[in-house]
Amino acid sequence: MQTRKTFQKSLTLDAVKEMPCHPTADQVYAHVAKKYPEISRATIYRNLNQLSETGEIRRFKNPCGADHFEPLLTPHYHFVCTKCKEITNVELDIDTKLLMSVCQQKTGGIVTEHLLVFEGVCKNCIEKN
Ligand SMILES: [Zn+2]
Ligand SMILES: [Zn+2]
Repeated sequence: MQTRKTFQKSLTLDAVKEMPCHPTADQVYAHVAKKYPEISRATIYRNLNQLSETGEIRRFKNPCGADHFEPLLTPHYHFVCTKCKEITNVELDIDTKLLMSVCQQKTGGIVTEHLLVFEGVCKNCIEKN
């Protein structure tokens, strides 16, 4: 039998999978609350954190705004349109382990993460002009 906790967690996971690419925590909450208004925002936030810690979803730290979540687990990068804020997945063959170890050598620190985000104007916005 499913406990309430696992039920809430799978609701959160399903919402991230159902929603268009890269929802923020607030958007995930709004999506779930449509069907289950009794679930609190804090519950959704907690579940999103847990799911990204266990690797079931990915958290995309957006340097220019709220964190986004997504079910796509394969390594990829993001192109953010500065006009419509649309986030596009970009698959790139970059050896991030190498970059991180070079950074580590140069700084003498311990590198645990890297952020790489492309910014610009997306194709749709270019065509609208
Ligand atoms: Zn755009
Ligand atoms: Zn993505």
